[in-house]
Amino acid sequence: MCRRLIALLPLLLCSATPAHADALGDAVAKDMPSLIALYRDLHANPELSMQEVRTSAKLAAEAKKLGFDVTTGVGKTGVVAVMHNGPGPVLLIRADMDALPVVEQTGLPFASTKRGTSLAGVESGIMHACGHDTHMTTWVGTARRLAAMKNQWSGTLVMILQPGEEIGQGARAMLDDGLYTRFPKPTHAIAFHDAAALPAGVIGYSPGYALANVDSVDLVVKGIGGHGAYPHTTKDPIVLASRIVMALQTLVSREADPQDPAVVTVGSFHAGAKHNIIPDEADLLITVRSYTDKTRAMLLDGIRRIVRGEAIAAGIPEDRMPVVTVRDSDFTPATYNTEKLTAQLADLFTQRFGSSRVLKVPATMGGEDFSRYYLADKSIESVIFWVGGTPNAAWQKAGGDAAKLPSLHSPFWAPDADAVISTATEAIVTAALGILHKS
Ligand SMILES: [Zn+2]
Ligand SMILES: [Zn+2]
Repeated sequence: MCRRLIALLPLLLCSATPAHADALGDAVAKDMPSLIALYRDLHANPELSMQEVRTSAKLAAEAKKLGFDVTTGVGKTGVVAVMHNGPGPVLLIRADMDALPVVEQTGLPFASTKRGTSLAGVESGIMHACGHDTHMTTWVGTARRLAAMKNQWSGTLVMILQPGEEIGQGARAMLDDGLYTRFPKPTHAIAFHDAAALPAGVIGYSPGYALANVDSVDLVVKGIGGHGAYPHTTKDPIVLASRIVMALQTLVSREADPQDPAVVTVGSFHAGAKHNIIPDEADLLITVRSYTDKTRAMLLDGIRRIVRGEAIAAGIPEDRMPVVTVRDSDFTPATYNTEKLTAQLADLFTQRFGSSRVLKVPATMGGEDFSRYYLADKSIESVIFWVGGTPNAAWQKAGGDAAKLPSLHSPFWAPDADAVISTATEAIVTAALGILHKS
């Protein structure tokens, strides 16, 4: 498009030409009113992790209408939509469906007022505060285009809607339910996530590690309780747990390789009930982030060692040693973008959108269970990329400083849905046409 025109037209005209001034761009633009109506419906009707019943039913029906072979109930509420279209690669395209236990405060006319109860039994408001509604709408937009363009690609599409991303369970549930055995096994896998740290319509990609290992650790620090006026008769778990919190800071600052990122954050610290009682116990919740297996093991082993060492230093008896529980069911492994496909997509996206809208960005310490589709079979070429969602006016006003703007998971997160969905749909269709290239 633009690149081909450069030789023929003055640069000014080229840069003034919308990136979507071609058949694909026109088709997506034409579909946007319908897609935005779908987006607003999904946004107003969010569902919590592993409870995406209405959402999956609605979108499965859309895929069926387009001629996909649709299977529902894969990994509880997951959907698999397959389209065979001749020989070639098998491309998995994934969107996640779940919303968050957040009370929406965007003030949008289609804001969610829904409430629900999480699997953990917590009742709260529900909001698509991570933008998974933009992912699902793009999934539908992409399915529509690729179904309409069957004569332009060859291969097999496996388009999946995944439950439970926010609790790190959905991808595992779909794989455990036969995603790679009951359906064509992918040679390629792609997904995107909306981004608060990029302006609307700008694509970001990270070759290699893109998102981190996420571990959740529960820590119970036991003491010997008693009267606050007689501390010498107790073993104070609050003082011990405070020491532990400070000592844990040295894992990243003194033990981790400065070239290999790591995070240890104590996100919750609960103990005691009254001014003058030294409690029996302090309960801490810790998130641990890393990219490599080696650093992950160092951090988790380090937590166990420091916790025990500090307890010994505090004179805690052996039968009251702290209890460290690494929650395996909550673990999300690091997400790796394979070099070859990342380079191919960066190329295709740059050709389509121009280099000012396609940026190589640093990896983040966030987590994504999209990682599991690649880790289940490392012969798969796999990429997740970002599509900026922060409205351009807000971006300009903040001087491009994302720290001044609502982030993902914020009750104020209101992406420029039009820009995210149109950009992501064009990008994923372009990627699909490149991967399922008709020879
Ligand atoms: Zn999220
Ligand atoms: Zn998300």
